[in-house]
Amino acid sequence: MHGVIPGQRDPNRVIVFDTTLRDGEQAPGFSMSAEAKLEMARALRDLGVDIIEAGFAAASPGDEEAVRIVSGEVEGPVFCSLSRATESDIIAAHRALSHNRRRRIHIFLGTSPIHRKAKFNMTADEVLAQAIRSVEFARELFDDIEFSAEDAIRTEPEYLGDVLEAVAAAGATTLNIPDTVGYATPAEIHALFASIHRRIAPRFPEIILSAHCHDDLGMAVANTLSAVQAGARQVEVAINGIGERAGNCALEEVVMALRTRADQFGLTTGVDTTKLVSTSRLLSALTESHVPRNKAIVGVNAFAHEAGIHQHGVLVDARTYEIMLPQDVGFDGTSFVLGKHSGRHAVAKRAAVLGHELHGNALNVVFRGFKQRADEIGEIDDAELLAIIRAALEEHAEEGDRRVAVS
Ligand code: MN
Repeated sequence: MHGVIPGQRDPNRVIVFDTTLRDGEQAPGFSMSAEAKLEMARALRDLGVDIIEAGFAAASPGDEEAVRIVSGEVEGPVFCSLSRATESDIIAAHRALSHNRRRRIHIFLGTSPIHRKAKFNMTADEVLAQAIRSVEFARELFDDIEFSAEDAIRTEPEYLGDVLEAVAAAGATTLNIPDTVGYATPAEIHALFASIHRRIAPRFPEIILSAHCHDDLGMAVANTLSAVQAGARQVEVAINGIGERAGNCALEEVVMALRTRADQFGLTTGVDTTKLVSTSRLLSALTESHVPRNKAIVGVNAFAHEAGIHQHGVLVDARTYEIMLPQDVGFDGTSFVLGKHSGRHAVAKRAAVLGHELHGNALNVVFRGFKQRADEIGEIDDAELLAIIRAALEEHAEEGDRRVAVS
């Protein structure tokens, strides 16, 4: 079943593993019912993600049920359940996914010294043995097995390599190297992935290395891109970057970075980027949580301009201040927010859209009224602008009448 993921054999194709419904959903404020997960899973399928991590079956009966419903009703992507490295968890994941042949299990086990000691009180050798045992057991039920060395970034690199090589030999098909605590820098991630790739790839050329980066220091996207440049071919991401604590790598950001800077990366994904905004808005609605205005790619300001110099530039040639087309991510178009920073060009252009071609003195009068009102109330919407135009045109007409009368 290793070849079921479309394009997996294309070395330049990055597999998009979406964990909005697992890592994202388990963060405070982002809980979703099974129905909400189902709606979100359909949107993720339409968006073109390759793998949907639908939940953590052993976490609760509700989570198991949600994984069962979502993986049973949505066709297309591979469905995945998270699982601890225990037989009972693996069995629960299989129970939840058993009726879908496109299934993956994602087994995780803490490998760092702090996880070995604080969580398991186990030696490095004992953790290694449990990792191997769990993958061997999962092989009985799954063809597609992902193994995560939890807290990989803080694990001794040599030992991390031992664990990953051993689970690959036991049958794991994807090796995830997570920055569970969002601690790494792009340079460290690059060095780590490059060394693991050098060690694993010659012996297991089909194995996919995967990045799962958290955003505690705001570096999740940069770290994920760095991992990809060092040989990772799966990225674990979430819509709007939701996830534990500061969140996961944002799907929309990493996908648009790969696309917009194809000159740097030379890699593709299967994501239909024109659905990014609608998918982001759906998640926002389902979880009743706002996306910040200035959020990269999907925030309402991502393609909005208020400053006069910027608006003028974008009106002449959008490339002056835009590196992507708003339509590429699903916005209708560039949004010009009219406010006190806006210039005459932008006001005239919006007025024309609203049916008023303004020139010369008429434009002067409208623009004067516009600046005055913008100072008072901030943003000027279409209704406000029309009121300003009507008032200004009356004033302009009166001025004209007076001039006629004097002449
Ligand atoms: Mn995580």
